[in-house]
Amino acid sequence: DAAAARLELSGVRAGYGDFQALFGVDLHVAPGEAVGVVGPNGAGKTTLLRVISGLLRPTAGTLRYGGQDLTAVPAHALPSLGIAHVPENRRLFPHLTVEENLKVGAFAPSARARFAERREHVFALFPRLAERRRQPAGTLSGGEQQMCAIGRALMSGPRILLLDEPSAGLAPIVVQQVFALVRRIREEGLTVLIVEQNVAQVLRVVDRAYVLETGRVVAAGRAADLAADPAIRRSYLGMH
Ligand code: ATP
Repeated sequence: DAAAARLELSGVRAGYGDFQALFGVDLHVAPGEAVGVVGPNGAGKTTLLRVISGLLRPTAGTLRYGGQDLTAVPAHALPSLGIAHVPENRRLFPHLTVEENLKVGAFAPSARARFAERREHVFALFPRLAERRRQPAGTLSGGEQQMCAIGRALMSGPRILLLDEPSAGLAPIVVQQVFALVRRIREEGLTVLIVEQNVAQVLRVVDRAYVLETGRVVAAGRAADLAADPAIRRSYLGMH
């Protein structure tokens, strides 16, 4: 498996045609860290993850994982570097079974060789998925679908997991379960970069976080410090 490395963005700009969505973002994630990116709708959180996972090229700035320039790596090669992306809205194949969706996550030859072992690991982590292994993914509940999407990402044997709004569209009780999953993944020793609108919850599971507003980092620090910051509490935690 790939070794864990430091992810580092410096001065990253990106956009869509003439529209600029990121205006010089500096951010890093050290091996073993869980880092959050929070901010309102349209702040550029999804864009940031798309840049890291090679789906969108930055127009300026540098993007490195360990010694490697990620802007030179195509999206399909990221799993072999140990980077896995769980996209917004999960993007499961609804007509494929849970197990078949997991297989999709293990498409690289090196991952294929370890399919059975990793599948058992994912089933041990998420027993609910084992119970539903022969069920089409589209018939799962929202929380189970999120489990399946995370499980699929784990099938490539990643060192760093990029999670895009895992709690989006889920009922409050399920949101709690999803953050409990994130905690378990952390305990596995995985490095996590998680983008979330649910600021209160995410600050409970990450070490550090960045606050992104209209494409710029406006605050950053330890999760506990951000959670105690009066401006953050007013803007994001509903405290007045
Ligand atoms: P959300 O929580 O709604 O996903 P976000 O913080 O993830 O918000 P982005 O989805 O990264 O924000 O969007 C940042 C900006 O880029 C927004 O103004 C959005 O309208 C714009 N944008 C996103 N995707 C595209 C696209 N494919 N084409 C044009 N503009 C886009």
